[in-house]
Amino acid sequence: MNRYGVFMKRTVYETIICGGGPAGMSQLIYFDAQGQLAEELNRGICVIEKTDELLSGNIKKYKISANSKGGALFEFLSEHSLVQQYLNKEKLSEQIQSYCDIAPSLHDIGVLYGKIGNFLEQCIKQNPNSDVYKCATVEQIHICEEGLFKVVFKQFGCVKEVWAKNVHVNLGGVPKTLNLDEDDRYVHSHYILTEQNEHLEELFTSNDSLKIAIVGNSHSAMSVLSKLNERYSVINSSKYSFDLYGKSNLKLYYSSMEDALLDGYNFTEDDICPVTQRVNRYSGMREESFLVAKAILNETINNVTLKRVYFKDNADYDLIIECLGYKTNLIPVYKNGKQIQFEVNNGILKTDTHFRPVMKNQESIDCFYSYGLGVGIGLTEVSGGEKSFTGNIDGIWLYQHYVAEIITELNKKVLEVI
Ligand SMILES: Cc1cc2nc3c(=O)[nH]c(=O)nc-3n(C[C@H](O)[C@H](O)[C@H](O)COP(=O)(O)OP(=O)(O)OC[C@H]3O[C@@H](n4cnc5c(N)ncnc54)[C@H](O)[C@@H]3O)c2cc1C
Repeated sequence: MNRYGVFMKRTVYETIICGGGPAGMSQLIYFDAQGQLAEELNRGICVIEKTDELLSGNIKKYKISANSKGGALFEFLSEHSLVQQYLNKEKLSEQIQSYCDIAPSLHDIGVLYGKIGNFLEQCIKQNPNSDVYKCATVEQIHICEEGLFKVVFKQFGCVKEVWAKNVHVNLGGVPKTLNLDEDDRYVHSHYILTEQNEHLEELFTSNDSLKIAIVGNSHSAMSVLSKLNERYSVINSSKYSFDLYGKSNLKLYYSSMEDALLDGYNFTEDDICPVTQRVNRYSGMREESFLVAKAILNETINNVTLKRVYFKDNADYDLIIECLGYKTNLIPVYKNGKQIQFEVNNGILKTDTHFRPVMKNQESIDCFYSYGLGVGIGLTEVSGGEKSFTGNIDGIWLYQHYVAEIITELNKKVLEVI
């Protein structure tokens, strides 16, 4: 059935995008930057998104500042860009300009991204070969014999199916937790940073002292400290004490080795990105998190103790904040009626250097991609990145530039072969 409720022959899109957040929509943003949006929409793109807005994803919910300058989040705008023309027409360009040299609030970026998402939605809907399904939840993916993907989703209580040659699955992440016993002292950073933690209000306002463990010592942990400080003035307060657990020391980002040395920061060769020579390029704290981390390292914050040991639960803690990142939000994928088993390490789906999920037999599936929050991007010689960082990276700039370009080039090669 098409969007007007008329039965028609099966449409095969070029690409289905499952999850229209910043990662999912990055392909469209990239095409627009290249001046190729209309051409790509002609080939057929279908976006399936759970909420009623494209592009903003979860960032609109984060009540914290970005970990980069705003300029990086709008670097995709170019003279060819239809989005740029839309922003000019709506007189939004000045607002974007004002974000370029500061780390803006992620919520404000989310609101602007939502407007751009609405514009992109109109572009998609105006093209007879492309479609958007909003308030629609992807439930299953099937790899069909003819090399096509069938995506099954639910919208307004109806189960629907669409087909495509390529599928991108970026459904955001699921908070990683240590709390298997439903102990209510545990809270994941996600709920603090998105202000969904009403029960903390009572804890902080009705206790004379609180002993708090923060498990994990990266950006989220620093953002949690800033957030709690903004709300309850926790930093350097004798009422609160924090133990900060992390495998490594607090890492700070510097754009050059000279800057790090001038600042008296201790680093090793393994902390230097071989491509950009930046220090702790992917693992280092930036912007507001940098300031908090540096104050902890310099001991100007006196109620945070660094613990370089594995966290062990302790009855003394009144609150345990899990800053452990996100697991992959994985939906079932079937081939010949059998569910495919993917390689998942510590909750994170393994992908190859072209962002394709890896199955248990170590093979990946052509034309099937996943790279957003909860999956991330592995480091390669091209992406660069410090040797001391062993995790996956995620970031809006990376989706819109690095990932989108690699996938587009790969698809061009596939077309050449065909
Ligand atoms: C606290 C925090 C701060 C961050 N700060 C930054 C930053 O400053 N700069 C930066 O570049 N990156 C930042 N990141 C990293 C990351 O790049 C962003 O979180 C980014 O917004 C992730 O985009 P996403 O599309 O992968 O996920 P999401 O934003 O979660 O979007 C996923 C989308 O999929 C939809 N969806 C979910 N399930 C389904 C389903 N079954 N069917 C259909 N749709 C579905 C959701 O509704 C949503 O729209 C931050 C991450 C966190 C956690």
